[in-house]
Amino acid sequence: MSIHRLLVAKVVAETHDAHSIEFEVPADKADLFVYKPGQFLTLRVPSDETGSVARCYSLCSAPHDGGPLRVAVKRTADGYASNWLCDNATPGMEIDVLVPAGIFTPKSLDTDMLLFAGGSGITPILSILRSALETGSGSVTLIYANRDAQSVIFASALAELSRRFPERLVVVHWLESLQGLPSVANLTALAAPYAGREVFICGPGPFMDAVAEAMAALGRGRREIHIEKFRSLPRNPFEVEPAKEEAEEKAAVAEAEQDEERAGDAPPVEPVADDGGTVTVELDGATHELAWPAQKKLLDVMLEAGIDAPYSCREGACSACACRIVDGNVELAHNEVLDPEDLEDGIILACQSMRRTQSVHITYE
Ligand SMILES: Cc1cc2nc3c(=O)[nH]c(=O)nc-3n(C[C@H](O)[C@H](O)[C@H](O)COP(=O)(O)OP(=O)(O)OC[C@H]3O[C@@H](n4cnc5c(N)ncnc54)[C@H](O)[C@@H]3O)c2cc1C
Repeated sequence: MSIHRLLVAKVVAETHDAHSIEFEVPADKADLFVYKPGQFLTLRVPSDETGSVARCYSLCSAPHDGGPLRVAVKRTADGYASNWLCDNATPGMEIDVLVPAGIFTPKSLDTDMLLFAGGSGITPILSILRSALETGSGSVTLIYANRDAQSVIFASALAELSRRFPERLVVVHWLESLQGLPSVANLTALAAPYAGREVFICGPGPFMDAVAEAMAALGRGRREIHIEKFRSLPRNPFEVEPAKEEAEEKAAVAEAEQDEERAGDAPPVEPVADDGGTVTVELDGATHELAWPAQKKLLDVMLEAGIDAPYSCREGACSACACRIVDGNVELAHNEVLDPEDLEDGIILACQSMRRTQSVHITYE
């Protein structure tokens, strides 16, 4: 996992409680910050109490226009990082970030799409929507729920896209202040004309549950729809790297033991027996062959070997470490983000993968 310090180039108050933040990516890092519509950045937000906290923010910019990377942060009531960013982010400030990650991204931009966003859930949805309209060929319907008209993030950008793509874009705004909370019946009625499309959902939990229920009523199973859950990371990848620390500790102990053996002329210690499992890792154009002890998780194996594998939460909750199985099999100890379709496609979370075949081959390409 590599941390990059990026310059904040622009901050815009999008609504009374949401700010967008643009980052400047230096030319020598441009390759690292190539992203797909729907992916997110992980930001390091300073804290006097803990050093920092790590929070994910979806990119609302669209990759094809080559413009700056932009995230939008909405204040969470009593939240720490979102309020810190909205209060303190200013042009010229530097923020540590992890490279773009995530799997909430369409396979094709040429299919017809049905998009649902609630509040700040519009961020990855806007990136997908703009990419589909400006580089793809399908039709897009967005059902966008907000508390009131003042809370609608990117209202004018959406109005402009509706003007530019009248034949291909339908935007349905739902305002809680006027219409109440969108019920399953409301959502079912709105989605019915578009039910067969590729579905992406992002928003507050109860909104996403209601949409999933509506889609089920329209015959679309959970495995057919893509959901992005916004939550705060339980661990901070910027502050601790336990696997690396553990590896360094082990290396120091092994060295000390070797020194002792040499000094006392003791017989060499036999290495701990393992079943000889291996993993082949394709990452950043290089291929690595590693021993993979059966009791270890894949991400720890890679980090201990000094491989710069991506990760963020290390708890199976964010998908920053997602990679694909080419050969072999693993079991995920915990998984909150991959849906059955991802799993069928061979996508796994390195931070939760336990080896279940003698050899495994994975790729990040
Ligand atoms: C993939 C993904 C994409 C996301 N995209 C977006 C997006 O585009 N836009 C968006 O707005 N949100 C997004 N989120 C949600 C975002 O990551 C945060 O969860 C959200 O901003 C709330 O964070 P918060 O710190 O403000 O609130 P909370 O996490 O609720 O803040 C409270 C927490 O902070 C701790 N805390 C309080 N004070 C301090 C302190 N001084 N120092 C250290 N810790 C403290 C508390 O112990 C508590 O754990 C996304 C989440 C994910 C997983």
